Amino acid sequence: MCPKIIKNIKNILNSKNNRCKRYQSCPIKFYVDQGKLDPEWVENYCLVGNKNCVRYQMEESGIDHPDNMLPNGTIKNIN
Ligand code: SF4
Repeated sequence: MCPKIIKNIKNILNSKNNRCKRYQSCPIKFYVDQGKLDPEWVENYCLVGNKNCVRYQMEESGIDHPDNMLPNGTIKNIN
């Protein structure tokens, strides 16, 4: 089986326990749902509770940040 598929299955199985607490209201989720961002962003950050997410860290620190800032801190032009 393709390693990417195995990784996706593991992410789905772990997602309920590890999902970021901000997932349901996070713009990154909505951009992925709308097909405007690669699903790998939520697979590698949101669904596995990746605390390295810059958005998460800024939220937790009460620091403003734009909706189009990716989990790695990059600002992306999203239409
Ligand atoms: S982008 Fe970051 S803050 Fe938003 S849901 Fe994903 S992990 Fe949480």
